[in-house]
Amino acid sequence: MYQVTFDEKDTIVRIDRELMDPQTVSRFLDLVNLAAALKDSRLADDWEKMFTRMLGFPTGVRLIRDPAVNKGTAFTEKEREVLGLRGLLPPKVHSMEDQVLRVLENVRRKPNDIEKYIFLISLQDRNKTLFYRIVTDYIEEMMPIIYTPTVGQACMEYGHIFRRPRGIFISSKDRGRMAELLRNWPYKDIRIIVVTDGERILGLGDLGADGMGIPVGKLALYTACAGIHHSLSLPITLDVGTENVALLNDPLYIGLKQRRLRGAAYDDFVEEFIMAMEEVFPRALVQFEDFANVNAFRLLEKYRERICCFNDDIQGTASVTLSGIYSALRITGGRLSDQKFLFLGAGEAGLGTADLTVSAMEGEGLSLQEARERCWFVDSKGLVVKGRSDLTGHKRRYAHDHDFIPDFLTAVETLKPTAIIGVSGRARMFTRPILEAMARINGRPLVFSLSNPTSNTECTAEEAYAWTEGRAIYTSGSPFDPVVYGGKRFVPAQGNNVYIFPGVGLGAIASQARHVTDEMFSVAAKTLAALVSEEDLEQGSLFPPLPKIREVSAAIAAAVAEVAYERGLATVPQPENLQEVIKSLMYEPKYQSYV
Ligand code: NAD
Repeated sequence: MYQVTFDEKDTIVRIDRELMDPQTVSRFLDLVNLAAALKDSRLADDWEKMFTRMLGFPTGVRLIRDPAVNKGTAFTEKEREVLGLRGLLPPKVHSMEDQVLRVLENVRRKPNDIEKYIFLISLQDRNKTLFYRIVTDYIEEMMPIIYTPTVGQACMEYGHIFRRPRGIFISSKDRGRMAELLRNWPYKDIRIIVVTDGERILGLGDLGADGMGIPVGKLALYTACAGIHHSLSLPITLDVGTENVALLNDPLYIGLKQRRLRGAAYDDFVEEFIMAMEEVFPRALVQFEDFANVNAFRLLEKYRERICCFNDDIQGTASVTLSGIYSALRITGGRLSDQKFLFLGAGEAGLGTADLTVSAMEGEGLSLQEARERCWFVDSKGLVVKGRSDLTGHKRRYAHDHDFIPDFLTAVETLKPTAIIGVSGRARMFTRPILEAMARINGRPLVFSLSNPTSNTECTAEEAYAWTEGRAIYTSGSPFDPVVYGGKRFVPAQGNNVYIFPGVGLGAIASQARHVTDEMFSVAAKTLAALVSEEDLEQGSLFPPLPKIREVSAAIAAAVAEVAYERGLATVPQPENLQEVIKSLMYEPKYQSYV
């Protein structure tokens, strides 16, 4: 987008470019010169109109229908005149503030969250600037709608509430032509791609192509929370089929009606996608999102050294959870390496968190073995121990020499953990006896109930406080309202990955990092924990209030970029004032003046 400023004689005095690649700039300047020449030669009286048309800038109805540039009733009198909008809009020119009020009134009168979601996504389709203004300014109210928990419901109903396509869908019918599909995307300078194959959407399982709601939602958060301009991002769904029988039988399902590709066919498919992505969008950071753990770890291992990528379910979750642990330790005192963690669920979130926590404990002086011995897992079969023959891959590193224990309560009573971390995707697994046991063992037990969406949480905030006599240090994957227990008001901040991934992405983009490393996630965890105030901790919040998210993302981005520079992973020179540069990269959703 560009903004042209004129003086009182209608001469161009300034052109502000935003996010234009050099080719566009040069084409733009040629046209400016041409327009100026035409103006001078008085060949065109309405040269401004011609100028904008020549640039391919939409006018008239096309302008109103283009969500990237539409301002709705906020087009000024002059813009209406020059851009052919007269008569196409009601006469009153509204400010953006007026429009915000109108949107809020509409959102709030919707009868339920899914209707609010549909309304907001439609706004994103009509007027992106206004959508991001609202999401940015009302992040606490809007995030649970455009992301968890409502996005979970939206994905479950995706084919039924579908209005407009977004992002790119690549299906197994597209083998051999994925680069061509990517070239169909209207923006050429893509810096961040969120990709899913829809197999493990939140804690909801295989939603196939209906999982597209997740990349779309995550990228909206990149823009709202880290100011990464929406034109730089691209949501992608790899439709490799689904095992979800209900979807296969649903006439409104939007994906291919076939069983999932597996084995070599799946790997070859993803490989072609990565190659196409490298060819068409060589500067893009790829965030793998909601892949089932059979593929997630493997894909991350395979690609992390080859392209700039990370897996948010593994690394982002690990980072936000570790940050929550650091914050909790500010309340309980003690070192990370003195803790004993018992995880419920040994998937991406649990193993990722344990790996990052182990490396942080190594940083405190423990050996790898000692650090791993402080992390224990109970999976769907029971305690992960050496004697089990059914353990795969990553879990084996946490299989300790111990008798097998089939259930979580006995594991708590036997191992006496200081923290329990629920990442099983199974509701109500932290029962009253379990929480009471944690409160008997610990003065201040750490209770992290991270499974999403809300219906899958291991325990609610109310249960956590009530069953531990108000002593639990609690966080959850989905948001909970404040709880009053024993006369004290607890505000359980959500342990949401949104505190981490937008900042990490922005830092990687700012330094144009070749890779995203675990060290970056460790640094992000520490940076986030340091931004939690004493007042936050006092009321039981392990994370800063969401309205501070842009500040948080900027700080994390600077810390991540520092790592990239220190480790020789950056591909652009280090600026002297990194913080300033990062802030300057952050897009503010404001209307540009077009003429
Ligand atoms: P995953 O499928 O990789 O792992 C789930 C694990 O739970 C598996 O090891 C499975 O064996 C185990 N499990 C299933 N039923 C169990 C039971 N009854 N008892 C014990 N273990 C059981 O999924 P994941 O990516 O690790 O995500 C798990 C959950 O964590 C999801 O609900 C997800 O939404 C949530 N999550 C939250 C955050 C966050 O709050 N920041 C981030 C990521 C994931």
